Amino acid sequence: MFTPTRAAGLEALDAFVPHAGAEYARGRNLDTGGDRNNVSGLSPYIRHRLLTEREVVAAVLEQHGASASQKFVQEVFWRTYWKGWLEQNPEVWRRYRRELADDWLTDAADTPGYREAIEGRTGIDAMDSWARELIDTGYLHNHTRMWFASIWIFTLGLPWQLGADFFLRHLLDGDAASNTLSWRWVAGLQTRGKTYLATVSNISRYTDGRFSPTGLATSAHALVEEPLPPRGVIPPADAVPGGARLGLLLHEEDLDAASLLRDHPWLSVDDTTAAASSVDRIVATAVAADPESRSPSGASDAVRRFTASAVEDAASRARDVDGRPARVLADALPSTVLEWAASERLDGVVVAYAPVGPVQERVASLWPALRSEGVTLTAVRRRWDSITWPHAARGFFPFREQIPSLLRQQGL
Ligand SMILES: Cc1cc2nc3c(=O)[nH]c(=O)nc-3n(C[C@H](O)[C@H](O)[C@H](O)COP(=O)(O)OP(=O)(O)OC[C@H]3O[C@@H](n4cnc5c(N)ncnc54)[C@H](O)[C@@H]3O)c2cc1C
Repeated sequence: MFTPTRAAGLEALDAFVPHAGAEYARGRNLDTGGDRNNVSGLSPYIRHRLLTEREVVAAVLEQHGASASQKFVQEVFWRTYWKGWLEQNPEVWRRYRRELADDWLTDAADTPGYREAIEGRTGIDAMDSWARELIDTGYLHNHTRMWFASIWIFTLGLPWQLGADFFLRHLLDGDAASNTLSWRWVAGLQTRGKTYLATVSNISRYTDGRFSPTGLATSAHALVEEPLPPRGVIPPADAVPGGARLGLLLHEEDLDAASLLRDHPWLSVDDTTAAASSVDRIVATAVAADPESRSPSGASDAVRRFTASAVEDAASRARDVDGRPARVLADALPSTVLEWAASERLDGVVVAYAPVGPVQERVASLWPALRSEGVTLTAVRRRWDSITWPHAARGFFPFREQIPSLLRQQGL
């Protein structure tokens, strides 16, 4: 269903744009199964930045104008909102990661109830079909994700963290922010006290009668948790790195070197060269990914395959100053990155900013390793993220009010 290349993403975008106006707003909640053209199916591309949020939004705005595009644009901004919110509340992610290792959760993962849920054997036909669809395709429709999470938590009484982990291991678009915070939202932790209850009438209506599961919970009491620490501030983007020989390191959060470099002209233009090439300061590029770090239980075969091919695609598109394609590193360990930096005689490594999640944890371990060898590490953040994230401080609705102004600041 999803070919992990930017070219395939652009083709999918082209095919979807005509449907992204009023038709999307009317029909997006329906999950009729099979080939869906009422939603874009672009999330695996956007999540790896094989496509950027900016170009997807720009294409839809150009064809439909601001008013008819409003719903679709808002949905893309949900992703941006979740990322900005988690960036300011990283403890939510850290706590989730710690909890997955807690005894009570590892015990819960040993119970027949959990195994039945992830193997599609609960006896609730809808749940079983969705679990198999997730495993087989790496994708679920948004409404189905909401029903699944609600039934998991309130009907089956399973811990939300194990459901989030199941999703993160299998979703091609699996994302620390959108996934963790959406599960928390269903559970009543994100908008404190407000839960999402899946009902048979809603499921039957929006699956076009494919499913009418019986025996679902009829109430949903919000889960509770220890208070979170106060919200943090998003640090300013890193300063321009020094050093004559810089290497660019891409990872599975951001696989489009060309648009990343366009956002940072100081990387692209060597002031000392009159005929500046577009990649003058970047003398070497490498791509490193580790989808296994999504979960203590790793990632599904489908996610591993998607990521590996997406990385190959990014490497083939990111040419160095002398026309060499980028190097795909065998793994994302600091020692492997160091070896690459040494082989290219780099003074510094520029890395695409990794938002809160497994890749950020990995990049954090690179700093001391590179510094000990005298190599600088600079994280460059995209304009889209720097402009939007600070506004994701409270709920989505005040954030949504800012969308027109945020678009203007992006020149859209
Ligand atoms: C429990 C649960 C877990 C989820 N986990 C993830 C996840 O790991 N990764 C992920 O990308 N999305 C996640 N979502 C959000 C949403 O379900 C998917 O982004 C959407 O279904 C992707 O399909 P699409 O590209 O066809 O969406 P479309 O409807 O075509 O939307 C266009 C784009 O907007 C963004 N988007 C749309 N809806 C949302 C939303 N509610 N939250 C965040 N972004 C949105 C996506 O980038 C999507 O590609 C989750 C939702 C729930 C309820």
